[in-house]
Amino acid sequence: EAEWELSADGEMVEGSEEAALPQPVLAVVGRPNVGKSTLVNRILGRREAVVQDIPGVTRDRVAYDALWNGRKFTVVDTGGWEPDATGLQGAVAAQAELAMSASDAVLLVVDATVGATATDDAVARVLRRSDRPVLVAANKVDSERAMAEVHQLWSLGLGEPLPVSGLHGRGSGDLLDAVLAALPESPRDLVGHGGGGPRRVALVGKPNVGKSSLLNKLAGEQRVVVDSVAGTTVDPVDELIELDGEIWKFVDTAGLRKRVNTASGTEYYASLRTKAAIEAAEVVAVLLDASEPITEQDLRVITDIVEAGRALVLAFNKWDLVDEDRRTQLTRELDRGLVRVPWAEHVNVSARTGRAVAKLAPALRKALDSWDTRVPTGQLNAWLNELIQATPPPVRGGKQPRVLFATQAQTRPPTVVLFTTGFLEAGYRRFLERRFRETFGFAGSPIRFSIRVRE
Ligand code: GDP
Ligand code: GDP
Repeated sequence: EAEWELSADGEMVEGSEEAALPQPVLAVVGRPNVGKSTLVNRILGRREAVVQDIPGVTRDRVAYDALWNGRKFTVVDTGGWEPDATGLQGAVAAQAELAMSASDAVLLVVDATVGATATDDAVARVLRRSDRPVLVAANKVDSERAMAEVHQLWSLGLGEPLPVSGLHGRGSGDLLDAVLAALPESPRDLVGHGGGGPRRVALVGKPNVGKSSLLNKLAGEQRVVVDSVAGTTVDPVDELIELDGEIWKFVDTAGLRKRVNTASGTEYYASLRTKAAIEAAEVVAVLLDASEPITEQDLRVITDIVEAGRALVLAFNKWDLVDEDRRTQLTRELDRGLVRVPWAEHVNVSARTGRAVAKLAPALRKALDSWDTRVPTGQLNAWLNELIQATPPPVRGGKQPRVLFATQAQTRPPTVVLFTTGFLEAGYRRFLERRFRETFGFAGSPIRFSIRVRE
């Protein structure tokens, strides 16, 4: 098992420890008609629209968000994974193999009214080798009388069969309790926005771009009194500023207030300071001097922000100095320099004249909205299935990689994890990312794609 993630450049790098772990995944496997879909619907409480069950139409790979007792997990119905050709027994066994590698726990569904068939036995044989927990649901136990058949399913060698009726709901609570006990804890959000306080903004940019001028303009006369904002602790270096009817916390503004001298040797500290401000913020406004060519230093700061996974607004300052010629030039520079962040929000401002300064807050808000957004697993997979059917991943080394399912494991920044059976070409990964943005937007926010390759 290898884990990979896309770096900001779209290159595939080996996943770090910090690579997002999705919420735990439960794969549901079993023969056709044992009631897998019915049970999945039951687990979901039908909270998400489930793909229509049209007879004769192969069911898509589907994954959904589930919630039980306050814990979230992803349920994957493996119905659509069955490759044809090999016959039912081989197909279901192959499905079980995949399920084992792409999930944290497996639920084998068996029809208790039929008992264990040769196919069930074959699947059980595969699952007994699993290093993940495996549970057996004895489905279609609609009444007490049907309980009599359940004990026979001990023969599968996978422990105690759990009686359930997907159709009527009987026993489903106990089944879900057992599922939760088997799944690992779900990871928490890494960058929490400690519930309700002001959103944290960093104002960064190279010396003399106009940071302190803009801060003064924004703060105006209405300096917010710290004590007036209940339950908020403000570091002495931070500043609360009301913009557009909302209070924002501008982090690490002390350095902007004091005129830091730009003599040699201080640049290193200035860059450390910038990094710290980026880390402390949720959204970063990068000031660029629109009257001068974009510099390496500007691009470096933008890279730092993308790598830190923060929402991003590009504020082109000194717009009062921009004439028609400079404007044309700037457009060319942007096309060349900002190819990595076509999704960033832009505002053209002048700290001197106050031009368009009021547009900053809406841009910050829009970027943060994207940064906070999560596409539900069901919706994500419906989109993914359609896309992959129209444009399958290119064959690599004679093998067709398969994308099994995806889940957005995290927000802040949005992080999508794709589960695949093979390596995806860099070009194809970029294609997926581009289409993802076309469909779901996420203006102003970086997105991380991480790929879990299971062989
Ligand atoms: P899948 O192919 O494994 O996904 O099975 P489905 O969920 O499509 O169910 C197959 C058939 O079994 C359907 O006609 C369901 O209504 C029926 N079924 C599913 N669960 C139960 C159950 O708990 N009790 C009974 N009596 N029928 C069920
Ligand atoms: P900082 O080093 O990024 O904090 O930049 P400052 O706010 O100290 O500004 C550097 C210089 O640029 C000062 O002389 C400002 O008056 C000037 N400046 C800042 N914003 C603007 C602007 O929008 N237009 C013009 N023409 N000059 C500006």
